[in-house]
Amino acid sequence: MRLSNTLSKKIEELHPLEPGLVRMYSCGPTVYRYAHIGNFRTYLMADWIRRALESQGLQVIHVKNITDVGHMRQEILEQGEDKVIASAIAEGKTPQEISQFYTDAFHRDEAKLGILPATHYPKATDHIQEMIQVTRKLEEQGYAYEVQGNVYFSVSKFPDYGKLSGNIQKELLEGVRAEVDPLKRDPQDFTLWKAAEPGRVLKWPSPWGDGFPGWHIECSAMSTKYLGEQLDIHTGGVDNIFPHHEGELAQSEGAFGKTFVKMWVHGQHLLADGVKMSKSAANDYTLEDLEDKGFDAMAYRYLCLTVQYGSRLNFTFSALRAAQRGLQRLRNRVWGWSLEASPDASGSETEGWRQAFWERVNDDLDMPGALSLTWNMTRSDMPVKSRLGLLLEFDRILSLDLDSTIQQWSVPEHVIETEKRRATLRTQKDYSTADNLRKQLSDEGFILEDAVSGTRVRPKSTLEKRQERWKEFSSSKEISSLLHVPDRLDFSVGIVACNYISDVQRCISSILPLAEKHPLEILVVDNGSTDGTSAWLEDQAAQDHRMRVIHTDHVLGEAAAKNILLKQSLGTYMVLMDTSIEATEDFLTPLAQALSDESVGLAGPWGLRSRDLRHFDEIEEGQVDAIQAYCFAFRRAVLSEVDLMRESFRFYRNLDLEYSFCFLDMGYRIMAIGSLPLQRHEHRVWTSLADEERDNLSQNNFRRFLKRWGHRQELLVEPGGDHDHVEDHHHYTSG
Ligand SMILES: [Zn+2]
Repeated sequence: MRLSNTLSKKIEELHPLEPGLVRMYSCGPTVYRYAHIGNFRTYLMADWIRRALESQGLQVIHVKNITDVGHMRQEILEQGEDKVIASAIAEGKTPQEISQFYTDAFHRDEAKLGILPATHYPKATDHIQEMIQVTRKLEEQGYAYEVQGNVYFSVSKFPDYGKLSGNIQKELLEGVRAEVDPLKRDPQDFTLWKAAEPGRVLKWPSPWGDGFPGWHIECSAMSTKYLGEQLDIHTGGVDNIFPHHEGELAQSEGAFGKTFVKMWVHGQHLLADGVKMSKSAANDYTLEDLEDKGFDAMAYRYLCLTVQYGSRLNFTFSALRAAQRGLQRLRNRVWGWSLEASPDASGSETEGWRQAFWERVNDDLDMPGALSLTWNMTRSDMPVKSRLGLLLEFDRILSLDLDSTIQQWSVPEHVIETEKRRATLRTQKDYSTADNLRKQLSDEGFILEDAVSGTRVRPKSTLEKRQERWKEFSSSKEISSLLHVPDRLDFSVGIVACNYISDVQRCISSILPLAEKHPLEILVVDNGSTDGTSAWLEDQAAQDHRMRVIHTDHVLGEAAAKNILLKQSLGTYMVLMDTSIEATEDFLTPLAQALSDESVGLAGPWGLRSRDLRHFDEIEEGQVDAIQAYCFAFRRAVLSEVDLMRESFRFYRNLDLEYSFCFLDMGYRIMAIGSLPLQRHEHRVWTSLADEERDNLSQNNFRRFLKRWGHRQELLVEPGGDHDHVEDHHHYTSG
C-alpha cells in the first residue's frame, strides 16, 4: 500500500518494521467537548488505512489516545470559554466526569460512523508516570531543562526540529506567539511539564514538584508504551503537523535515539460552506447535528469517501444530501438484489473488478476512485449474485454497512399485502384505487420503489420523512431569482428568522394588519431554526396567502439568507426587517414616499453618518451614508444596478454598511426618516453572544467593509475626517 508521507513529502510504499505487523498511532480526541465532523474526517482516513491493511492480511495494532488533560486547562474552565464545561463545573461535576461523558460520546459517534475501535484507547491521565519517564530521559540526554518546576524541551539541541513541518521560521514563530513564557531560554522551546498554579485541580506529583504534562508528551509516552519506540504509521490532521507532531517527533527521537515514525499521514482540512469550521461561524457541526437534520451518520462517511484525504473537503448540506442519496441508492441495490439472489463473488468475472478496486485503494487511499469503480461495477452486466457479492466484499473497506439493510428493511406482512393488492389493481387498470393505496402506504412510512423485477416496498429514511414536511434549501444558489418578473404588489417585507420564536411572532403580527391598506407579501427565510419557529411559520403561511416561507436546512450566513429574500421578492418596494422590530402603525407609506424620489436609493428610520469611514454616528433624519439593518427599504428595480449582497458577510453586523455603500456607489442618495412608527426591542443575536466573540465577528466584517470602501471618502455626505485618527471599529453600539 502506498501513502503520502508528510516527512519525505513523497508517496511511499509501506514496508512494516516487522513483516506482517503494522504499528499505527492516531492522535485522538480532546474530551472536554464533542468532536466535530472535521475531526471525524481524519479518523475515517485512519479507519480506511487500517481496514485496507487488515484485508490484505496484515495485523494492525492501532492506538488512539484520549486527551483528558493538557488541553483541559484551568484557564479555559475558569473563563467559561466552553459553556458546556463551565455549566458542568457549576453543577459540581469533576473534570473526570466531564471527560468520561465526552469520551463516551466519542465512542458512540465512532461506532455510528463504522469506525473500528482502536486496539487501545489510552487516557492521558492514566499515563502520567510514563510521561514523567520520557521527560526524565530527555533531561538525561540533555534535551530538556528545568526552570522553577517547569521542564522545557530545548529546540536548539535537536537539529532535526522542523523536519516534519518544513521548519518555516514564520510558522514556528506563530506557533509560539500565543504563549509568552519568560522562563523559557528560547521562545521556540516547548513545555514537557508545567508546574501547577495554586488552586489547580488536575495535577500530579513529579520529580519537579506538583504539575501536569505538556500537550505533546502524552503521545510520545503512550505510543511507546503500546507500540514500542518505533511506529509504522502515525496519523492526524494537517493542523497537528505543527507544533504537535513536530514536538512528538523531537521528544521520541531525542529520548530513544531512533527514527520515531516511518510514515506520517495527514488528513486535509474540512471546510464548511467554504470557510474554516468554528463555533462563532456556527458551522462546527457534530454528528448529532447532522442526525438532528435527518441525515444518517453513514451519509457523512459516504461524503468523506468522495474526496481523497490529501485534498480539502468543502462540507455543504447540499453535498451531504447528495451523499445521502448515493448511500440510499447503494442500499436499495443491496436490498433489491438480496431478494433475488444470494451473494456470491467467487465467479471468475469478478476478478478484474476486484483487482481494479484494490489498485485504487492501495494508490494513496484513492477512495473516490474506489467508490466510482464500485458504482460502475453495480451497473455492469455481471449476474446479480456476483454484483451483490462483490458489493458486500468492497463494503468491508468502504464500510457503509450496506448489508445491514437486508435485515433492517423488513416490512410488515400487511404492508406487503397492501402492495400486492395495489399491483393487482394496476393490472386491472384501476389506477385511482391503486394510487390511494400508495398514499396509504406512504402515510404509514413506506415507499414504493421500482426495480427490474417489479415494484417493492421499503421503509422511508429519516431524511425522506423530513423532506415531506416542507422543502429545505442548503444555499442561496438553489433559490431561483424572480428579479426579472414584473412587480406583483406594492411591498415585499423580507424577514430572516432564526429561532427566538416570540420575536418572530411579534414582528410578523405587527406587520400583517398593514395588509389591509397595502398590497403586500411577507417573505420569510426560516434560517435553520430549531425551536419550533419553522412549524409556526409553516402554519401561518398555510392560513395566510400573503406569507411565504423558505426553509433552509442549516443556518446560512446573513448575506446569503437576505439574498434569498431579494431573489424571491415581487413587490415594488423591498423592506428588509429585523425580528427585533415591531410596527406600531403604518410605516410603509412614508417609506414609499421617500423612495418615490428616484434619486433616493435607500431609506429607513435609523441612519448612520461618518466623516472618516471609521466612526459612524446614528442620525435619525435627513441624508445619511448608511441605513441600519433594522429596517432597510429600497425599490426592487434598483437591484438590477445594485448587485446582491456579498455572501462572505456571514455575521449580520456591518453588512448594512457594506450594502448601503453599494447604493452610494451607484450614485443614489440615502435618506433617514426618523419619525417612522417602529419600536426597537432587544436584539437577541447580539445579546446572546459573548463580548469577545461579537467584537471579533463585527471587526472582521468591518475590515471587509474597509477593504472595499475604505478609500472611497468621496461617497460620504460630508467627507473630510482627519486621517490620523484611525480605528478599526465604529461607534454605534446598539448592535
Ligand atoms: Zn498526538
